[in-house]
Amino acid sequence: MRFDILTLFPAMFSSPFQQSILAKAIEKGLIEVRTVNIRDFAMDKHQVVDDAPYGGGQGMVMKVEPIARAIEQVKLGNPSVRTVYLTPEGKRFNQETARELSSRSHLILLCGRYEGVDERVRELLVDEEISIGDYVLTGGELAAMVLIDAVSRFLPGVLGSDRSAEEDSFIGSLLEYPQYTRPPSFRGYEVPEVLLSGNHQAISGWRKKEALRRTLMRRPDLLNGASLSEEDKKILEEISREIVS
Ligand code: SAM
Repeated sequence: MRFDILTLFPAMFSSPFQQSILAKAIEKGLIEVRTVNIRDFAMDKHQVVDDAPYGGGQGMVMKVEPIARAIEQVKLGNPSVRTVYLTPEGKRFNQETARELSSRSHLILLCGRYEGVDERVRELLVDEEISIGDYVLTGGELAAMVLIDAVSRFLPGVLGSDRSAEEDSFIGSLLEYPQYTRPPSFRGYEVPEVLLSGNHQAISGWRKKEALRRTLMRRPDLLNGASLSEEDKKILEEISREIVS
């Protein structure tokens, strides 16, 4: 899968993609991350990419022409590539959106700066707007990194085991169960015995119950949208009784 990041600060992207899983994914050719400096597409010799807002007000607005030219350049040869603008006004990013985006072969990620982009960029050039949360960042670069990381985890071969992405939090709308590794006892805190039992059915039952418990305790809102089996509902009732008693 290919990501083209349109940014005024391409240097921000050098380190995050040179480490760990994403670096390996790039090395294996599973993902390709390119940066495009919007300033290179400015219309004048001073390479101006922003201007004061019409109507007055605080800050500067990113100009439409350099962004249009940058997007059009990336789209040469692949006009159907999807363009995503990272903005706090976009649809809230979550695991489901990450999975959906992972089915695409090529994305353009537009990172805003200053007060954001001229509205005509959004109207004429952008297919989708995504926010990574209800807070305001200084620019879209960190949001683009978050998106690429979360989307890449769904691509076959990126994680050590393809099953891991399916067992993470939010799959099936549940948080993940607690994880332990050696030692079996730390300062009197023991690893739950069932996990040492080698009984896979009992382990999987324990994990399901603890995932449901954690979701109920920390993110009960997720249970509203979850497709719960009759068995899950019974376990939830059991957990509720345990909490009350
Ligand atoms: N004036 C804008 C507003 O109130 O919505 C905020 C502009 S912000 C300072 C500059 C850029 O950071 C935005 O254009 C966007 O690309 C990026 N950004 C800020 N917060 C974000 C978020 N929560 N999710 C995604 N991108 C964000």
